[in-house]
Amino acid sequence: MNDEFPYWTDPEKDEFPVTIEACTKSGKQYEIVVREEVVRAAGGGQAGDKGTIYAGDEFVEFIDTARIDRKLVLVANSPVEAEKSAIIKIDTQWRGAMMRNHTGEHLFVASIKKEHPEVSLGYIWIDGERGTVDLEGEELHFDDLIGAELVVQDAIEKAVPVGTKFVKATEISSQVRAREGLSGKHEVMRIVEVEGYDSSACSGIHVTNTRDIRFFKVIDFKTKDNGIRVTFVAGKKAGQMMESTFNEILRRKHSYPFEMEQIGDVLDKAKSIADERRLLVDKLIQFLTKGVDSEDVNGITFRHEYLPGLDSKDMKAIVKKLCLSGPSVMLLFIPSGKSTLTLTTNELPLDASEYIASIVEKMGGRGGGSHDVYTGGFS
Ligand SMILES: [Zn+2]
Repeated sequence: MNDEFPYWTDPEKDEFPVTIEACTKSGKQYEIVVREEVVRAAGGGQAGDKGTIYAGDEFVEFIDTARIDRKLVLVANSPVEAEKSAIIKIDTQWRGAMMRNHTGEHLFVASIKKEHPEVSLGYIWIDGERGTVDLEGEELHFDDLIGAELVVQDAIEKAVPVGTKFVKATEISSQVRAREGLSGKHEVMRIVEVEGYDSSACSGIHVTNTRDIRFFKVIDFKTKDNGIRVTFVAGKKAGQMMESTFNEILRRKHSYPFEMEQIGDVLDKAKSIADERRLLVDKLIQFLTKGVDSEDVNGITFRHEYLPGLDSKDMKAIVKKLCLSGPSVMLLFIPSGKSTLTLTTNELPLDASEYIASIVEKMGGRGGGSHDVYTGGFS
């Protein structure tokens, strides 16, 4: 960690002359050893660089960079000639996305830790597609995540410089969180600082100003035994994902009219319809296999049905078509936040309401009806 690598001081520089020391086959791939420390190997939770090696008239793409036996190794699908000089061109799209995802991660995790000091960073992986972190030690909720997301967005808008300094490991303040596997291993540590937001020991590549993150979005989270796994994206990709999600909703706004701010209610409704449908199918299966619930109470036939997913209009239609014969009672009940019921009687001495109205009223509900039909409801 004593050396200053070019990707630490000038992460935008993407072309370097190098010397190819060796090229060996390893499985289906080739490991190309490069003498100069100009590309970044995977490590500290960040993926390796990708790019192209130009050697004479030929060029070979490398798909990863690793550190093997302390040597810098480019991983490629085809070989290059060893003991020759070459030019390396770094895939700046991949690296740039990693820089944005990684700096976004610093800000995000720092914000979470500010609110929840007991939280520690577990698994971490950042590449050019997305970032994933495990936040452990304290229970976190969705609101904590979107709160931290807002802080990252705030840092982006404020365009804060991202600085680097080198500090003796023994002099690091307790406020500087050492990233996994770094603390104590090096005499001098590199500290990445975003003033007012974060200060972390880290060997990764970052943007030089928070404005370069452009946009940061949590795209998923999953609760685990000891914490929460959060996936996020930054930059253009985050914008594209937001755009495509928004447009999916916008497309449906016209075929199924609703206001944008009602999307939560629309989804809740869709979920409750799906739940009700499942209950209704269960009920249908019961009707087809066991028939209608019916019992004999002192010579009066008592039928009672629980009808999830139907509404009061459906219930009225059923009652209208109902043909009760002999002394009988039928109770239909539609469960929901605002439950509805009807009691239909036949050849009984009292009005239908006499048998049920007081029960419904006791539950804070109300109802009414004719001689042999009572309709009521309660919340
Ligand atoms: Zn970092």
